[in-house]
Formats: sequence, structure tokens, C-alpha cells
Amino acid sequence: MTLKLSDVVLTYPDGDSMMTALDHVELAVAPGEFTAVVGPSGSGKSSLLAVAATLVTPASGSVMVAGQEVSGASREARTRIRREHIGIVFQQSNLLASLTALDQLLVMADLSGHSTKGAASRARELLLAVGLEDRQNRRPHQLSGGERQRVNIARALMNRPEVLLVDEPTSALDHQRGAQIVSLLADLTRREGLATVLVTHDLATLSMVDTVLRMTDGRLTG
Ligand code: ADP
Ligand code: MG
Repeated sequence: MTLKLSDVVLTYPDGDSMMTALDHVELAVAPGEFTAVVGPSGSGKSSLLAVAATLVTPASGSVMVAGQEVSGASREARTRIRREHIGIVFQQSNLLASLTALDQLLVMADLSGHSTKGAASRARELLLAVGLEDRQNRRPHQLSGGERQRVNIARALMNRPEVLLVDEPTSALDHQRGAQIVSLLADLTRREGLATVLVTHDLATLSMVDTVLRMTDGRLTG
């Protein structure tokens, strides 16, 4: 399993007490497997992705990413695991306003110290894969919402992660464009052998995923 959460409990302070955001969660995603997590607002879906992304440390339980145990790892070790093995796409596209689509991708490689030469060909390959080969010199305001989300996805894949975590990528898009994004994620999951977790409200696109899990009050069920 590329991503494995075992018996994960996450609590947040809630006034004088604690609330349980993740309640003994089990999740295992294999390479090339596209898993969707659905559930009501406030049920813990984004918290699940934050734990899987190593951004939030659970109260207990184990998180394994690409064969490495995250729980107990130092902040530096977690940052390294995240950079090398995890691609993250959040709901709002946090693209840099002044950069072209191509440069949004190249900046990722710069930050992680990858060679510029390899990065340029990887960036072109990804822009082609997400259907933006003729948009690579456009800045975010010259792209549609769906195109910006495609840049986001391509950027998340620059460093060849094994795990891809995507939080409600279609919420700002109409149904057709949303379905195209989910279809693209399905393609990339197969092509790159990713362990992908997609949080979504869009039940109509679930036919494109391999596994559907439901989150209810912090409990994850099949
Ligand atoms: P979802 O993504 O399914 O809407 P979240 O994971 O965002 O759910 O939230 C799950 C629960 O945890 C909610 O009750 C939310 O209010 C609470 N929560 C989320 N993040 C925090 C936080 N940083 N501090 C305190 N409570 C939080
Ligand atoms: Mg959420």
C-alpha cells in the first residue's frame, strides 16, 4: 500500500473539551488506485487529507506514506516525505498571479532542488497530459476556472509523487467541467501509478473511481 492509515484518531480542542474529527480511521490505497471520500460538510474529510498529507499529526494511530512511517517523525522528516512523495490539490487554486502556467510548475522543481533540465521536460509532459499545451504561457487570470484547476493538478505532480490528495476540486465548476477534472484524475492515477484520494461532493462522477468511502462524524466506512 502506498498510503496506509491505521487506527487514526484526530481530536481538536472544542471549548473546554475535545471533539473527535477522525474516529479510528482505516484507509489503504494501492498504487494506481483511485479512491473517493464522500460525506456531509463537517464530517472530517479535509481533516483526513490533512493527516494523510502529514500536515496534521493525529492523537494516535499510524500513517504510512510510500513505505515510511510518518507518526513519530520529526517536522523536517515529515516535510521531506511530503515534498518527495505527496502531491496536494486544495479546493481554491493557490496559483501565483504573476506566473505563467509553465512557470507555476517550474517553481515547484526549483523549491525541491531538482535539475532545471529535467523539470522543463516534466512540466511540458504534464501540461500536455492535462490538456494545456497551448496555454502554457498564460497567467492565472487568462485561464478559466477549470484550466486553473488543471494547472494545480499538473503542479502537484511535478516531483513525481506516489500519493495524490485532492480536496473538492470541482466545487467551483459546473457539472461537465467537474466531470472532466475527475476523468483527468482517473487518467493520471493510472498513467502515473498514483495512490489517489479524492474528496468530492459530486456523486455523479463516482463511476470513474475504483473505491468509494463514506465519512460520517469522523468514521470512515466502505
Ligand atoms: P469536512 O472537510 O468533511 O467538511 P473537516 O475535516 O473540515 O470536515 O472538519 C471536521 C470537523 O472538525 C468539523 O466539526 C470542523 O469544525 C472541525 N475542525 C476542522 N478543522 C479544525 C481546526 N483546525 N480546529 C478545530 N476544529 C476543526
Ligand atoms: Mg472539507
